[in-house]
Amino acid sequence: MILNTYKMQDIRTLSLNQLTDYFEKIGEKPFRAKQVYDWLWSKNLHSFEEMTNLSKNLREHLVKDFVINPVSVDLMQKSKDGTIKNGVKLHDGLLVESVLIPTETRTTACISSQVGCSLNCEFCATAKLKRMRNLETAEIVDQVAIIDEQSKIYFGRPLSNIVFMGMGEPLMNYKNVAEAIRKITQTEGLGMSPRRITVSTSGIPKMIKMLADENLKVKLALSLHSATEHKRNEIMPFSEKFPLTEIMESLQYWYRKTRSPITFEYCVWKNINDKDEDIKALIKFCRQVPSKVNLIQYNSIGESKFDQKNPAAEERYVRELENAGITVVVRRSRGGDIDAACGQLANK
Ligand code: SAH
Repeated sequence: MILNTYKMQDIRTLSLNQLTDYFEKIGEKPFRAKQVYDWLWSKNLHSFEEMTNLSKNLREHLVKDFVINPVSVDLMQKSKDGTIKNGVKLHDGLLVESVLIPTETRTTACISSQVGCSLNCEFCATAKLKRMRNLETAEIVDQVAIIDEQSKIYFGRPLSNIVFMGMGEPLMNYKNVAEAIRKITQTEGLGMSPRRITVSTSGIPKMIKMLADENLKVKLALSLHSATEHKRNEIMPFSEKFPLTEIMESLQYWYRKTRSPITFEYCVWKNINDKDEDIKALIKFCRQVPSKVNLIQYNSIGESKFDQKNPAAEERYVRELENAGITVVVRRSRGGDIDAACGQLANK
């Protein structure tokens, strides 16, 4: 086989404009670009042979010049509670994980945005992995398409929600995540409502503002865990670069632009953030922007510092937040028996 210079390029890394240039270069009509683009992004096709409105000749040309590298499920595990964890293999052999979380009324896909993570949250298993690379737009969209299929097969309904709470920090792979959201929400194709998509971030103020300006209409969650600067810096050391006042300023900007309230994700740990002053700090923080609190159960990754619970403190959090008029939801963890719960991805 003769390899040509484009051979390794995934056609899905090309924008519609770049694809149009390509067709012009090989002497084809520009509208061919739109046809191919639709096959790739609206019909999620993974082979040139199936692009039936192209001539055989043209299909052969494409096969010669490009590849399509869909992700594949390397290992699928099912939890007792119905949660499905996919070990997803990328074309270069690297692995990420994505999770399907079913409830009575909805199916949520928890999607990865990076291979590994460059942040260093001490309570998170993914942080122990080196960040290898950002996921491509297509690799993000593929994870969603796979879970949509699984949802139909195992639960008889399409995917209803997406959370960017898998491996990686979505705002550190901003361009590809934003583009993937556009692709996932376009009417042809998956056609998901952006209001059912949540981007979860550890808090990078500049990128939060950029996302607000992008006007994607998605929801925003911030992994807060402590509203006291030095405590947050201790458990999320990277956050030293991003003071809480700057984060708050970016959240207020987000709200002004999008009118969409922010969800704060928060674990309660014994001797870390279980004192009255911690609750007071959280209430003060919440009051500065329309928001609610998700109290998430900590899923052990074997770090003893975080392994002690304080259920009484958690109850106090709920009571005090409610008394302060702040919505608080206690989120039960799912898929813990297969290490599919928050923060456990890549645990094994
Ligand atoms: N980087 C993004 C998204 C990935 S983490 C972010 O930080 O938001 C998704 C959520 O899981 C975050 O709220 C994170 O704080 C939380 N999390 C991480 N490790 C956890 C653990 N061991 N138990 C419970 N939640 C955890």
